[in-house]
Amino acid sequence: MTFDELNLMPRLLENVRKAGYTEPTPIQQAAIPLVLEGRDVLGCAQTGTGKTASFALPVLQRLAEQRSRRPEARVIRALVLSPTRELALQTYENFELYGKGLPLQSAVIFGGVGQGSQAEALHRGADIVIACPGRLLDLMGQGLVRLDWVEVFVLDEADRMLDMGFIHDVRRVVRALPERRQTLLFSATMPGEVEKLALDLLTDPADVKVDPVTSTVEAIDQCLYYVDKSNKKRLLAHLLQEGKPETTLVFSRTRHGVDRIVRELKKAGIEAAGIHGDKSQNARQTALKRFRDGDCGVLVATDIAARGIDVEGLSLVVNYDMPMEPEAYIHRIGRTGRAGREGKAVSFCCIDEVKQLNQVEKLIGRRLREEKSDWPMEVTTPSEKKPREPRPARVSASGEAAPRRKASPAPQAPAKTAQRAPAPRTPGRQDVRRGSGSGSRRPSPLGRPVRRRNPGAGKGGRTR
Ligand code: AMP
Repeated sequence: MTFDELNLMPRLLENVRKAGYTEPTPIQQAAIPLVLEGRDVLGCAQTGTGKTASFALPVLQRLAEQRSRRPEARVIRALVLSPTRELALQTYENFELYGKGLPLQSAVIFGGVGQGSQAEALHRGADIVIACPGRLLDLMGQGLVRLDWVEVFVLDEADRMLDMGFIHDVRRVVRALPERRQTLLFSATMPGEVEKLALDLLTDPADVKVDPVTSTVEAIDQCLYYVDKSNKKRLLAHLLQEGKPETTLVFSRTRHGVDRIVRELKKAGIEAAGIHGDKSQNARQTALKRFRDGDCGVLVATDIAARGIDVEGLSLVVNYDMPMEPEAYIHRIGRTGRAGREGKAVSFCCIDEVKQLNQVEKLIGRRLREEKSDWPMEVTTPSEKKPREPRPARVSASGEAAPRRKASPAPQAPAKTAQRAPAPRTPGRQDVRRGSGSGSRRPSPLGRPVRRRNPGAGKGGRTR
């Protein structure tokens, strides 16, 4: 099936083509016609399946084609609730990408940062709002958000929302929505609580189900190296020199990391190009062209920069840093082994990343095969988090620098630094999992693991 067969408007087809998508994914094939018809949809799909476009494209089309219920003012016509700020941002970016050229404004709302610019964006007017529930309720409480004219409500990752304890927040938001609306609910799993929520929220919904994303990556050969942060560069150079993969995409968590890795590889005599958000569009295009043309076999990228670039037939994906969000692992490694080609994905994990590794393994439902190298993990004490630097001055609504916040006092106790284990040894998996304070679980007084709430999705907020 092609996108042309989905009855999408020319502008959306153009934007999808520009995003590099050639054919709709199964969830898009199933959901887009239903949403365009105005049906409520209960979608069982995970991030990584193309789920966002499956609702964003038809929602954009409906809003562009239909008259607003309140045409005299710009009001919120579509609300997407996301459990985490990362997902909210990603969804917002997708709406921006797919909706380019349409007369529709989007805004994103999430906690953890000042609310000024978010409130401002709402004041200017947004047709589509992507929000985390905590901050949305805050702004609603302050009278800065009204949901009376919402035509489409999307509840994304409902199971995660419930896991994170947002069920009451979600229900409070729903109470502020008009009765007459289209509702789309997406969830990776359908536990009883999500089914109950679906029954309450949806009217005669169409069920759409696609295989969990994890099954699509099962064909990829995935392995893991425990390695100290300082030795990752050596291990990477070694793997590239030994295996001589034709094309390699290396993922770094930060922009500085991208530049550093490119420098280190060059020192080791390996040609590499880097792309990240600080580079100009031109520099990014040049790097990508060099990689595509085979002038350099290694591309180093951040998750955000790598999103949207479609590089076919990668021989190797390297998770130089473990991703902060487990779903990003699937996105990353999904870039290898495409179109029936064999692919390989390698992850580097230092002691500070064991928590992220655990989350990835939980998501894919299995342990990654562990490989040994000449650089086994020797540092087995997690590094202490540095106290946060005060934020740089922000710009107020009038364009002037807002006053700096007082920096929090330095901690009393001297910060511990990472210690080397006395004898070099690679910790067994159990050692790493249990011995680390950075594991994904911390002991509760009852001796059972306690889930941590997502710190970003609660109070506070920032906009883009
Ligand atoms: P999502 O599940 O929405 O997070 O999407 C996962 C990734 O797939 C994102 O990087 C999208 O840009 C990409 N994507 C979405 N739809 C398609 C498509 N039809 N063809 C290729 N890539 C897609």
